[in-house]
Amino acid sequence: MRTDALRRWYAAHGRHTLPWRSTHDPWAVLVSEVMLQQTQVARVVPKWEAFMARWPSPEACAGAELTEVLRLWQGLGYPRRALALHRCAQIVSAQGWPKSQAGLRALPGVGAYTARALLALAFRRPGRPPLDVNIRRVGARAGLAAEPHQVTDAAVEEALMTARPARMSRRDYTLALFDAGALHCRAVPRCDGCPLAGGCAWRRRPPAAAAGERRRQPRYEGSFRQLRGALLDAWLRTRSGDEAELAAAAAAGLQSAADAERVARALHSLVADGLIPAERAPSQAG
Ligand code: SF4
Repeated sequence: MRTDALRRWYAAHGRHTLPWRSTHDPWAVLVSEVMLQQTQVARVVPKWEAFMARWPSPEACAGAELTEVLRLWQGLGYPRRALALHRCAQIVSAQGWPKSQAGLRALPGVGAYTARALLALAFRRPGRPPLDVNIRRVGARAGLAAEPHQVTDAAVEEALMTARPARMSRRDYTLALFDAGALHCRAVPRCDGCPLAGGCAWRRRPPAAAAGERRRQPRYEGSFRQLRGALLDAWLRTRSGDEAELAAAAAAGLQSAADAERVARALHSLVADGLIPAERAPSQAG
């Protein structure tokens, strides 16, 4: 894997206008990373800007009601992330930021990837690279001539760590790899113009059926996740404690009617996750 062209390419073509790229503030970085975990960049940008305008620090967010945070989160999906972020804000505002990977991982909703991203992008500490889907794919292909599911995390990390250009900070290297993955090394790679093309091990293989190896995303329409999202939206709008009323309010956001058993199960799971407080929940949901 050769990365000699990466620094210049990143200066010219990196996604520098992403608003969270202009700060090292750990709260701003954490909010962006949590939002980006399962939501596309274009949808995250306005939400991140609205979130940071309203709660620019952990202290500000810790003082907000959870329902306010959930309301702002609407449209991003996976609202458990908002709950975890709100809890993080409460812990950090009371105790300060942990600076080690283990300490960061003890925060709600912060896994190995997010902890490493914070260390690289906000705290500028040395360590192993954060492996998201994009970086993992770049490292597996360019460094190991493999698709990501064919190699271990440790092998990808090693390939990436040994390839960091001497004149590139860990932060810029991480961001450049994100961008190379997002703009070029996609599920179906766009090797023309890729800054790693000159020394990419994957390109030297006989043409592999990369497109045939793509994994399908599970369907969202009709899923349990969609039903949970519609019910939480309905609850935030109405605060109704009546299960039938909530199901009716949620129906507008669904393509087909959900049966009563699925509605009850979905409500139960929202209460169990702490997204709807038990004392305000519909009576049959507990
Ligand atoms: S050259 Fe192609 S396969 Fe190699 S890292 Fe770039 S986009 Fe991926």
